[in-house]
Amino acid sequence: MKDKLEMLMEEIKLASKARENAYIKYCNYSVGTCLTTKAGKRYVGCNVQNGGIQSICSERCAFCKAISEGEKEFDHIMIIGGPGGKDPEKTLPCGYCRQFMSEFVDKNFKVYTSYGDTVEEYTMKELLPYAFEI
Ligand code: ZN
Repeated sequence: MKDKLEMLMEEIKLASKARENAYIKYCNYSVGTCLTTKAGKRYVGCNVQNGGIQSICSERCAFCKAISEGEKEFDHIMIIGGPGGKDPEKTLPCGYCRQFMSEFVDKNFKVYTSYGDTVEEYTMKELLPYAFEI
């Protein structure tokens, strides 16, 4: 069985590879993510910008891919981002994505970001303590 660090390292690679596909014509900030389900299946995403207001962040890209495949239970997400073509920097979900993700995860869902030799871990509770709920 793989240990947690080994799994995170794999997810950093997958998210970094997805980041290479980011469509960043308008703001040159590329993000790749690797979303892992509770069953251990992984879905990657990248940001897809648009000249209108319809840009899709990497986090929502990964969630929509997974949900469209019938996934309902999510464990954590790895986020790798930074200026296009440059090394990653600390990248956390935007407010829109935090609210979007909160619809599908519990407060203990883990959000990771990695840059340099650092991996930081956050929970949804930390990132969005007062989500809008109906
Ligand atoms: Zn976002």
